Amino acid sequence: MFDVAVIGYGPVGSVMANLIATKGYKVLIIDENEGTSPTARAINTDGEQCRVFDLLGFADEVVKNTGYIDKVSFTDAELNEIITQDQPLEVGAMGWPAQLLFYQPELETIIRTSVESKENITIHEFTLLESFSSEKDKVLIKCKKESTSLEFEAKYLIGCDGASSSVRKILKIERDDLGYDQDWLVADAHLTKTTDIPKHHAKQICNPSRPATYVPGRRGHRRFEFKLMPGETKEELEKDEKVWELLSPWVNPENAELERADVYQFHAALAKDWRVGRCLIAGDAAHQMPPFMGAGMGTGIRDAMNLFWKLDLILSGAARESILDTYQEERYPHAKWTVAQSVSIGKIIEGLCAQQEGKEFIPDDGDGYGVKFPHLPSGLYKDASDDISGYPCPQPLLYREGKKTLSDRIVGSQFCIFTKNEIPKLTEKAQKIVTSLEIQIIKIQDNDDEEKRMVKIFDIYELVLIRPDRYVYGGIKSMKETSNIIEELEKTFSLKI
Ligand SMILES: Cc1cc2nc3c(=O)[nH]c(=O)nc-3n(C[C@H](O)[C@H](O)[C@H](O)COP(=O)(O)OP(=O)(O)OC[C@H]3O[C@@H](n4cnc5c(N)ncnc54)[C@H](O)[C@@H]3O)c2cc1C
Repeated sequence: MFDVAVIGYGPVGSVMANLIATKGYKVLIIDENEGTSPTARAINTDGEQCRVFDLLGFADEVVKNTGYIDKVSFTDAELNEIITQDQPLEVGAMGWPAQLLFYQPELETIIRTSVESKENITIHEFTLLESFSSEKDKVLIKCKKESTSLEFEAKYLIGCDGASSSVRKILKIERDDLGYDQDWLVADAHLTKTTDIPKHHAKQICNPSRPATYVPGRRGHRRFEFKLMPGETKEELEKDEKVWELLSPWVNPENAELERADVYQFHAALAKDWRVGRCLIAGDAAHQMPPFMGAGMGTGIRDAMNLFWKLDLILSGAARESILDTYQEERYPHAKWTVAQSVSIGKIIEGLCAQQEGKEFIPDDGDGYGVKFPHLPSGLYKDASDDISGYPCPQPLLYREGKKTLSDRIVGSQFCIFTKNEIPKLTEKAQKIVTSLEIQIIKIQDNDDEEKRMVKIFDIYELVLIRPDRYVYGGIKSMKETSNIIEELEKTFSLKI
């Protein structure tokens, strides 16, 4: 029997399976197709996801194969800038660049190389999930590989099977529709010669007769998106001559090769339930959003990071299954915010198009690309209403053995305590929890954190406790409370101690 069956070997399923496998569990991956996605869809990632890639051991390789954007502009039809927002270029508080442009087939190859190096992961491609049913302590899974029927058993099943998720449908989960359905042509081209189109400047072109998007990807990869206008058909827009006509202000067959050009329907929707007993959903199976913010895959990778260590606590016998209830509690509002923010960028494009036609439009302050992800408003925290809980903890550099090291590389995927102080003698119960959860205690020394990423936290708190997904559990303002914050974990995490 497998510990976890992951349906879908896309970016989210492959990260999910990989994370769970790092804890030593037997993982099954099922995918109806074979090989990586042949074309790019996701193109943009961030520092928080790089921490996940680093935990899996390949963040440096991902970063080496990326490009960056220094500006995003909303422009008129003639590319005159209406609003321009600078993008952060430096390594940020997460310890990695805040924004990176990658090429999806290449990223998936990097993730899969890591997955396929793990002996405790079994992969069945060309294998279609047909049905599954839950029993008291396992899920029975029925698949078809060509004409052969295959059956598997797993303690948990996670549907990472994309927007039309069979897992979501079999579980009869409905979706909250956030009311944004639009058809856009998505074209990916690769430069074959040097051109003068911007290398690092992304543009949302607010042309009322055809809104469009331009994103310069890594190396010569260039992404273009064009809205399907009323009266047009998908087939007309996908014709090669039409695609090159739309691309002609930017590239042409003399200086670029077209990878593909397909019409996608952009949706804004969230599944109402993310868990039914032993079965869960993640990634596009749980949420879809228009790609204006470049956050769909990232939202799925955050789901994986939120789930894997909770499953570990349950499978290792440390915690009760009830902590799985907090998966949706924590992730749904964050995903909903991301979907809404992506829609709001679409609305700015529409508003600025209307403005070009003489109609009034004033963008809201909270719109655009300058916004920061919100915290997780409730879940497994000490006090979700304080200043730090439910946010990813910044990542300090620690000076160890004569060199600076990212703290994540010292902590691994355990709980961790950061403090500048000596830890007082713990109560017997607190010590037992530290030992059973293998909580890493990291004393921040004088020559650590030269970049001052932890300063704001230590201005208020004496000690902070961080969850394995790098989110802050909570902090204490007096070291006398050290045993209390650790003992609290018993109740918060339904620990079996
Ligand atoms: C134009 C465009 C641009 C985008 N840009 C970005 C971006 O910049 N940044 C970003 O983060 N996101 C972006 N996204 C979103 C991103 O591509 C998706 O969120 C991401 O690919 C979802 O990954 P996933 O693993 O959840 O699903 P998928 O990639 O769809 O993978 C699902 C897998 O499940 C398999 N499967 C499905 N059904 C079954 C079944 N019954 N049995 C077996 N296997 C099955 C499929 O074969 C597939 O391999 C963009 C999307 C689009 C369309």
